[in-house]
Amino acid sequence: MNGKVVMDCIDAAHASIKQHADEIMVLDQAIGDGDHVFNLTRGLEALRGIRGDLEALDFGPALKLAAGKLLSTVGGSSGPLFSSLLLGMSRACNDLNGDPRGYAQMYAAGVKAVQDRGKTGKGSKTMMDVLIPVAERFNELAEGPPAVDQILVELPKEATRGMLATRDMLATKGRASFLGERSVGHVDPGARSCQLMITAVCERLGQSAQRGANAP
Ligand code: ADP
Ligand code: MG
Repeated sequence: MNGKVVMDCIDAAHASIKQHADEIMVLDQAIGDGDHVFNLTRGLEALRGIRGDLEALDFGPALKLAAGKLLSTVGGSSGPLFSSLLLGMSRACNDLNGDPRGYAQMYAAGVKAVQDRGKTGKGSKTMMDVLIPVAERFNELAEGPPAVDQILVELPKEATRGMLATRDMLATKGRASFLGERSVGHVDPGARSCQLMITAVCERLGQSAQRGANAP
């Protein structure tokens, strides 16, 4: 994997967030301040603006550069959190050799970095309710027989489960926690954006793997 793969994933995430922008805006208007999708789009567009730099790098350095760019361009709570995800992953990607366990560990390291930054786990109605279950499922699948293409199909299902579960939760972290009981009944915008991006990235990686397998 290299910077081109990172850029490919950013493009996939960007397309999905753009496609669902209105919906994410409405979710953040309901339990936040409405800016989540704008924060996220600004970050993804900034990353697309340094395409040449990212594509020229190896996988780890590309993730690190992207993390720095997100930190400097994205406001709100989510900017530093997304930045931590990529930075945590960049620090844990030295031993990737095609074994799914390496990728699962790398992703888990990114999620741990988000958790350290945001100081919350599952159940507080945030993006962690998607990121953590996906990390757990990824570790579980990577230990077992499923092939990479199956893992890429399973992870989005876990992301969707996690995202939907936020609807009935009471927010205890972030801006939505100011609403108390009134936060119940709405999906968390960060959980929805993470679920969309995870799904888009898995689909893109699945298509690339398929193309690779079909190559002469
Ligand atoms: P802000 O809340 O500062 O306006 P955004 O709107 O960009 O920032 O992001 C809101 C999202 O950030 C929430 O929907 C939630 O998923 C996530 N979030 C907020 N606080 C935390 C936290 N401490 N840990 C993890 N995620 C958080
Ligand atoms: Mg907001």
